[in-house]
Amino acid sequence: MSQLWQLGAEEIARGVRGGELSAREVFESCLERTRAVEGDLGAYLELLAEQGRERADEIDQRRRAGEDVGPLAGVPVAIKDNISVAGRSLTCGSRILEGYVAAYSATAIERLEAAGAVILGRCNLDEYGMGSSCENSSFQLTHNPWRLDRVPGGSSGGPAAAVATGVPLALGTDTGGSIRQPAAFCGIVGLKPTYGRVSRYGLVAFASSTDQIGPLARNTRDAALALKVIAGADERDSTSARRPVADPLAEIDNGIAGRAVGVATEIDNRSLPAEARASWRQALARLERLGAELREVSIPALDAAIACYYVLCTSEASANLARFDGIRYGRRAAGTGSLGELYRASRSQGFGAEVKRRIMLGTFALSAGYYDAYYGRALAVRQALRRQLETAFETVDLLVTPTAPSGAFAIGERIDDPLSMYLMDIYTVPASLAGLPALSVPCGLDDDGMPLGLQLMARPFDEAAVLAAGRAFEQDLDWKVEPTAVAA
Ligand code: GLN
Repeated sequence: MSQLWQLGAEEIARGVRGGELSAREVFESCLERTRAVEGDLGAYLELLAEQGRERADEIDQRRRAGEDVGPLAGVPVAIKDNISVAGRSLTCGSRILEGYVAAYSATAIERLEAAGAVILGRCNLDEYGMGSSCENSSFQLTHNPWRLDRVPGGSSGGPAAAVATGVPLALGTDTGGSIRQPAAFCGIVGLKPTYGRVSRYGLVAFASSTDQIGPLARNTRDAALALKVIAGADERDSTSARRPVADPLAEIDNGIAGRAVGVATEIDNRSLPAEARASWRQALARLERLGAELREVSIPALDAAIACYYVLCTSEASANLARFDGIRYGRRAAGTGSLGELYRASRSQGFGAEVKRRIMLGTFALSAGYYDAYYGRALAVRQALRRQLETAFETVDLLVTPTAPSGAFAIGERIDDPLSMYLMDIYTVPASLAGLPALSVPCGLDDDGMPLGLQLMARPFDEAAVLAAGRAFEQDLDWKVEPTAVAA
């Protein structure tokens, strides 16, 4: 008999709407399970037990009164702590925001709650979303539930570890891979929507031109359900797209037969380690067996994508983080004299090493003397990459890559080598730079027993295509999210 915390979002909502399940009981089960594993994992910065109980009871009452309680009725959800939840702390994993309480809820949160979801807690992340391992959080480490000495991935490492163990759904954010890579590392599904598909209102900005909120779930159907709830135009975010939201669940069983799937020739030329290479080949063979037509495509700008991304994201971060100065936002340093000293001390004490590194890199890339050489050049590369991807999508429906070059690495292994950390993002940043929808689905285990992910990308706003392909893939693989380092 499966326990309530093991149920998927769709099953929970169906049960709660139909009166066969109580939202309160589901919530208690997820809470108890989460508490049992949290000592090992460190996925949460705060559990919202009382608030969640009240919400769950309210949903049960409304259901009994005959109300339609929504497509996510009674579904417990974990939230990455860079997304505002009104009245709750919001830290972005940073000391500088300690004590800050969100004054309003993000649009994605409002939509989740209107659909009946119940927030279980705020989850750990790399400070401001900057990182690939969660080790850049100012507060705690998060451990991978498949092996506790490994990272959960980042920056949405907390949400990914939470979904792999005790809650069916989470919201993460993805600027260069932060939903997809931790999903891959924790053996779950992660969807980065098309840029503009989901409102960024209430998300603390890291790199505004690629930041997107998206779901982490245990299967593609739940990711599709969550996307449908949070997607759509929002007058409070001018970059949110006005186009209507199709129902990705309506097409999710369409499979992948007959679809043209592009494989970039550039991938094989890269250092994909031997153990990941075997799983990659098997994944391609599986896609073919499912009826996909694999085609080679060439996207030469892929080789410059990492450099391009790290110039642009650091530039945007340096501008976005200027507001955390101890006066407008952020904890103020005590005992300083002049205004300049106050800024310097507040920011020196409040920000961690990686955030400082990026602010300095970005400020340099944007400075008058170097703007053309770095920022301007990176914009041109981004344009070229976009065009090459567009051209590829004239002949293929989907593009496929590994989500990351390897499975989860050991805690401490890369933290002193930023470049090796940045290189983990090699496959995820292209979709970010081009604004494309991209999904990571589990595709097996590496030699160390760590999960690996397969990434599917599609044309802008064609989330339905990646979800249908991912669905066919996960069903054929018959994947079970049963992380080996935590007891079932
Ligand atoms: N790992 C990437 C970075 O450090 C991606 C981060 C993200 O998507 N938020 O920038």
